[in-house]
Amino acid sequence: MKPFYNEQQNMLAATVREFASEKLAPFADQVDEKEEFPFDQFKGLAELGLTGMTLPEKYGGSGGEYRDFMVAIEEIGAACGSTSTVLITHVSLGSQTIYQGGNEEQRERWLPSLSSGDKIAAFALTEPGTGSDALALETSLTRDGDEYVINGSKLFCTNGAVGDVFSVFTNHNKDAGHKGVTAVVVEKGTPGFTINPQHGKMGMKGCATAELVFDNCRIPTKNRLGDEGSGYKLALKILDSSRIMIAAQCLGLAKGALDAAISYSKERKTFGKVISARQALQFAMADMAVELDAARLLTYRAAALYDEGLAHGKESAMAKLYASEASGKIVNKSLQIHGGVGYFKPSTVERIYRDQRVTEIYEGTSEIQRLVISRALLNNK
Ligand SMILES: Cc1cc2nc3c(=O)[nH]c(=O)nc-3n(C[C@H](O)[C@H](O)[C@H](O)COP(=O)(O)OP(=O)(O)OC[C@H]3O[C@@H](n4cnc5c(N)ncnc54)[C@H](O)[C@@H]3O)c2cc1C
Repeated sequence: MKPFYNEQQNMLAATVREFASEKLAPFADQVDEKEEFPFDQFKGLAELGLTGMTLPEKYGGSGGEYRDFMVAIEEIGAACGSTSTVLITHVSLGSQTIYQGGNEEQRERWLPSLSSGDKIAAFALTEPGTGSDALALETSLTRDGDEYVINGSKLFCTNGAVGDVFSVFTNHNKDAGHKGVTAVVVEKGTPGFTINPQHGKMGMKGCATAELVFDNCRIPTKNRLGDEGSGYKLALKILDSSRIMIAAQCLGLAKGALDAAISYSKERKTFGKVISARQALQFAMADMAVELDAARLLTYRAAALYDEGLAHGKESAMAKLYASEASGKIVNKSLQIHGGVGYFKPSTVERIYRDQRVTEIYEGTSEIQRLVISRALLNNK
């Protein structure tokens, strides 16, 4: 398919594409319309081994590198934006936080049931008062013998309303700045932990977003990931890598929009000709394809750097920034090519248009990506 993908990645893309066209695309409008968490779709992803991707077999995972996961996420994103967000959050945010921040006992305790898809992971960093300034956290963590007591709340937690295992970033010492940030795991059903579903999103409506409230919530100290104060580095590390998957999701959304534009332009006639015969639209589609491939190359580079264990923070921010903004332009052009039909439900491009918008906001806004990139430039990285 793509010259820079190897044979195994092309095979993976073909398998996921077939699954996505049979099991995701036909239900994408329903997921959106009813704000329905895609449980059956998630089960299907689990059967394909995708819920355990990038995690070692030792913990029930199906292995694979970020380049492989990128390939899968693009195909899923092209069929159903919500399902791609659910999977990214489950794997590259929730499960990876436990894998990268946890010790052996914690990995064995939580990862097998997440890899198999029996349980769903979520990642809780954002709070009512902190989004971009993600580490000025107010949620407190106080030690009491062998337990910690958590107080505070988290917002916009993807998978939150259906999640089982939550990686939660707290502050055990507000005077210590980022050195006070500590990551812990909180399981659904823990006394003092309440999940309030959040409704009213513009797009990505199947992602079961929730507010999490901790009211004297007690967890054992053995649920702490790493040392007290190590949560800052862990959060940045996870976001640096997971952003690559948001870029991959943008490739999928853009591909879905471009494919829809191509097929619609070949059917719709005006002034006695199909609109695909008009050079203005041909050139628009050419630009869309170029933007998409440029985004794909940046995403692939970031994933390759990550897989090779090389510095990738600036490159993942570049990929996320470019792919999200390029997908915005591509989806917008696709809607234009659809004319009035594109503005109405249930056109695919109307849904993608709404789903795409958040890619410029979550896992760091475009402004924050520019901040990461410019800091790296000025620090010669
Ligand atoms: C659908 C959805 C799902 C999400 N899922 C999760 C999740 O699973 N887990 C989680 O923890 N969070 C999640 N988030 C939160 C998301 O990561 C934050 O919304 C995002 O980081 C932006 O934070 P904010 O909304 O507080 O915006 P703010 O930080 O208040 O920013 C407001 C505006 O100011 C700009 N800005 C802020 N600081 C600067 C600066 N220094 N320089 C220039 N411009 C600046 C921003 O770019 C933005 O345009 C989700 C959000 C959404 C919408």
